[in-house]
Amino acid sequence: MKVIRTIKDIQRELNEMRKEGKTIGFSPTMGALHNGHSSLIAQSIENNDISVCSIFVNPTQFNEKSDLEKYRRNLESDMKILDEIGCDILFAPTAEEVYPPDFVSFSMDLSGLDDLMEGKKRPGHFAGMIEVVHRLLEIVDPEHIYMGQKDFQQFSIVNYMLKTERMKTELVVCPIVREEDGLAMSSRNTRLEPNIRKRASNIYKTLKASKDWLKYIPVKYAVDKAMNALDISDFEPEYFEIVDGFTLKGIENYRKSDYVVACTAVWAGDVRLIDNMIYKKDS
Ligand code: AMP
Repeated sequence: MKVIRTIKDIQRELNEMRKEGKTIGFSPTMGALHNGHSSLIAQSIENNDISVCSIFVNPTQFNEKSDLEKYRRNLESDMKILDEIGCDILFAPTAEEVYPPDFVSFSMDLSGLDDLMEGKKRPGHFAGMIEVVHRLLEIVDPEHIYMGQKDFQQFSIVNYMLKTERMKTELVVCPIVREEDGLAMSSRNTRLEPNIRKRASNIYKTLKASKDWLKYIPVKYAVDKAMNALDISDFEPEYFEIVDGFTLKGIENYRKSDYVVACTAVWAGDVRLIDNMIYKKDS
């Protein structure tokens, strides 16, 4: 695997490959890689000639400085993981490389998708996320971008940007990879205290259970019931919403909606976890 640090070098490398007619798949990450990330890269390898993974802890998407500081960085072990999967290129630029002094920032109206759920509690998060994804796409210019369903609102917003800006890159969404007990894999999981970690699968269990509840009770009661079920000692649910998968707005009637997703954020001690489950997707 090639490790590339500068825009000039990665563009030179990728231009050579494009001349040979090779397709490029791209998986942006913030490092601290686990099997969830690996699944994106594995999918990219399957679909493309060249797979690029970026590791960049983007300062502009952290609204809490302490959250940015706690973000675990371990490039050595990340490189080993990427090498083993068969990733072709790791792009690991510095913040100065990504945002040079003459950088013209990118922003766009996200049609309210950024005000809901995660956007309510993390102001500026999606503006920062969209800016960095746009920037990385400008640099890598891939045929496909690979993102996880784990961050439902994130991929929905990226898809909105790709379509609205008529960008050539196509989004491929990969399923959530979970631990054996159902907890969604996340780099934050290593920060969970053991007695909290043991009970963190309650989030997954609640997501599953609420789908069943919807057979018998209206959406708003299922939401209340889920909030109660998530509210166990040491845990504090921030939101549990049952939304339309396209608009991300809360739904009222389960049967009348074609695409339904439950999304939640829960504080597990001092670690904020997010998860979701697609309940229905009629295509
Ligand atoms: P991050 O490094 O946390 O920003 O995540 C980089 C990409 O990996 C995002 O597209 C995430 O949605 C995806 N991802 C993170 N955790 C998982 C998981 N458990 N399953 C699938 N994809 C994931």
